[in-house]
Amino acid sequence: MSTKKTLQRPDVLSVGASKPVVNGIQPSVVYASETPDALDDQYEGRAQGHTYAREGHPNADLVASAVARMEGMEAGLTLGSGMAAVTAVLLGLTKAGDHVLGGDQLYGRSLRLMSEDLPRLGIETSLADPTDAAGFAAAIRPETKLALIEVVSNPTLRMADLDGIAEACRERGVILVVDNTFTTPAAIKPIEHGADIVLHSVTKLLAGHSDVTLGWVGAKDPVQRKAIYDFAVTTGMTPSPFDCWLAERGMMTFPLRFARVQETAERLAAHLARQKGVTKVLYPTRDDHPDRARAQGLLRGQGCNMVSFEIEGGRKAANAFTQGAADIAFAPTLGDVGTTLSHPASSSHRALSAERRAALGMSEGFFRVSVGLEDPDALIAAFDAGLAAARA
Ligand SMILES: *Cc1c(COP(=O)(O)O)cnc(C)c1O
Repeated sequence: MSTKKTLQRPDVLSVGASKPVVNGIQPSVVYASETPDALDDQYEGRAQGHTYAREGHPNADLVASAVARMEGMEAGLTLGSGMAAVTAVLLGLTKAGDHVLGGDQLYGRSLRLMSEDLPRLGIETSLADPTDAAGFAAAIRPETKLALIEVVSNPTLRMADLDGIAEACRERGVILVVDNTFTTPAAIKPIEHGADIVLHSVTKLLAGHSDVTLGWVGAKDPVQRKAIYDFAVTTGMTPSPFDCWLAERGMMTFPLRFARVQETAERLAAHLARQKGVTKVLYPTRDDHPDRARAQGLLRGQGCNMVSFEIEGGRKAANAFTQGAADIAFAPTLGDVGTTLSHPASSSHRALSAERRAALGMSEGFFRVSVGLEDPDALIAAFDAGLAAARA
């Protein structure tokens, strides 16, 4: 650390004989060095330190190492959003002429990046069903550079055949990228299943309070790590120190929150399945889940914070349900401390044709719930109020 003083600012950081137990927010954009030699030491890796916040800052470092520890990975990079993480990987590691293969039910903006932006830059893309490893492997081309999948699909909660896909990618020299936002490292560490790169929207469960927008990416290979870092720094995907500070705080309670929401989600799923007018309930640990055995293996018996269900009565019943369940926020996010409800046909999947939605199993009566930390009895009562309104 520099001991040189500047004329501009008094030294406000000294705290005497004791030290705070909470990390501070460091908003500084620039860092002053002692000498040109000291800068050389920093740039050439002989000394640690920061130079300019777009290239890295202490609060981003704290989030980066906290998520890396959770994922069982050596290092990671905090970025300004989950989409910044997806973009930094897809554009930082590809060039015109390459092909990128994606899961066919990726997060909406990831799908858009694949269908609109990569092709515009000369990078070919295609999609395949990740629940079918053989079909996915058959979609790999000689020029396929990387594959991007999520472990649990949104909002239909289907399980990818992660191990089968990892094997196919390894055999064909394809970089396997797993977006672990939905599943979180508490349920699965994709690196242990053969992923090369793991990424997150820290915005969701990890930060957990719907008050920060952040992303994270970690790569096993240092050369790929450097390419992602350079692309992110050049294109300015800088995370805000304040957001990082809030995320660090939020992540301290992540394991507790994740355990609690799973208990409530399992109870809610069981309750919904018993109600009149509910035609389908999806939850990974339920006996009737289409990928139950795979979910058991990959999530090691755990579930998730999401429950999806379908009510009869189409759009009219769906409108009545959200009005009747007035205590539950009808809002398109997930992973908040409060329960949120989303309706794919009118939000995340509105761009799809009704036929395509039907093929994926999302009717007008289909809802996705991100379960929060409310009292489970009160939450179930709120759902019952919605169901009563939908039936009326
Ligand atoms: C929300 C989300 C993203 C994008 O994250 P932002 O922080 O909103 O940019 C990417 N992938 C998945 C699975 C998500 O749920």
